[in-house]
Amino acid sequence: MTAIPILMYHHVAPVPSGLRALRGLYVSPGAFSRQMRLLGWLGFRGLSMSDAMPYLRGEARGKVAVITFDDGYVDNLEHALPVLQRHGFSASCYAVSGALGDYNRWDEARTGVRAPIMTAMQLRAWRAAGMDVGAHTHSHVRLTQCDDAALQREVNDCRKALQDCTGSPVTQFCYPYGDHDDRVVASVREAGFSDATTTLRGRARAGGDPLRWPRVPISNRHLLAQVAVRLVSRYEDRHA
Ligand SMILES: [Zn+2]
Repeated sequence: MTAIPILMYHHVAPVPSGLRALRGLYVSPGAFSRQMRLLGWLGFRGLSMSDAMPYLRGEARGKVAVITFDDGYVDNLEHALPVLQRHGFSASCYAVSGALGDYNRWDEARTGVRAPIMTAMQLRAWRAAGMDVGAHTHSHVRLTQCDDAALQREVNDCRKALQDCTGSPVTQFCYPYGDHDDRVVASVREAGFSDATTTLRGRARAGGDPLRWPRVPISNRHLLAQVAVRLVSRYEDRHA
């Protein structure tokens, strides 16, 4: 069965001075550019989750890799978008609807750094550039710890807000912290999302569970050769 790596990124930016934790969430603009070039060399087309759906469903064949960004940082627009455009790739950004134009309130205390999140206008610019906008809840909570009412609000309100913001259907979801269980998955399905990504490791298999896609995390610790190994070998699948 075809293996489709779904790459997970957060920041594409230099590691900020004063960062106390979660260095792995940063990939430098230079490294990101080399990683996209690597995809091309290896014969992969980089696609957003929406564009990759026919491949993930097993309805289309081709060598594709999915590119995802969690949280919706401004640096995605500044540093990643021009690189993606240069390669003719698309990508998904999972936005936190209650945090647009704000910053990473959920992990600022831990990282010691305030990282700006795209405004509604910047998110529209990302979408207008042919990129996909997915949902990452309203306030970046751990969904398994929400009661039923809060869970529904986090999932449904986020979808509605992002659809209103972008003027397009939002069909893709990503669980904050990868935190999900059967109840959370059911609520995401009922809200109308077709796909959801987790932080489970491994390459996706065409025809797999569309609401529990595994991903391949890429961090600033990875040398280019290590990224290549994760794309083309069973390395990540063994970590699943
Ligand atoms: Zn997140």
